[in-house]
Amino acid sequence: MFDNWEELEKSIENCQKCKLCKTRQNIVFGTGNKNADIMFIGEGPGADEDRQGEPFVGRAGKLMNMAFQMLGIERKEVYIANIVKCRPPGNRNPEEDEAEACMDYLRNQVILVKPKIIVLLRKCCAKTYFRKRIWNNSYKRKINRKERNKIYTNLASSSIIKR
Ligand code: SF4
Repeated sequence: MFDNWEELEKSIENCQKCKLCKTRQNIVFGTGNKNADIMFIGEGPGADEDRQGEPFVGRAGKLMNMAFQMLGIERKEVYIANIVKCRPPGNRNPEEDEAEACMDYLRNQVILVKPKIIVLLRKCCAKTYFRKRIWNNSYKRKINRKERNKIYTNLASSSIIKR
């Protein structure tokens, strides 16, 4: 785990920890307010994100911006990341080995952002995030109980945000 963004971002450059590295155009690390109270987590980049290297752009991004508008949230106020940072081919769900290989980056992002609320987009994103094996002890020690009690899933978004 890194205690600063610079080292974390450097550590992911040219990552080849899983097979998604073979088909990606860009690593989609994450974007937004690094001190955000709310963090949105999706499953993985789609085609537009892969091309631009940024999460939730293109059609998915437009829909997400509309959802933010309805909720009275400014996109620049929140932090947005994905479980896997490289696009699964054909926009399929990330496979278990891919999610596990990539999860350290996300854990580190959550530790650095320290969000009060985590919104997990789509049901399988929530399932992956809460998979028991993914919550290892070092992560649990760094996230205090108060923060962990403020984790929510947003299953409704599955019908709004589709790539
Ligand atoms: S998905 Fe994550 S673990 Fe896999 S190659 Fe990309 S950055 Fe590395």
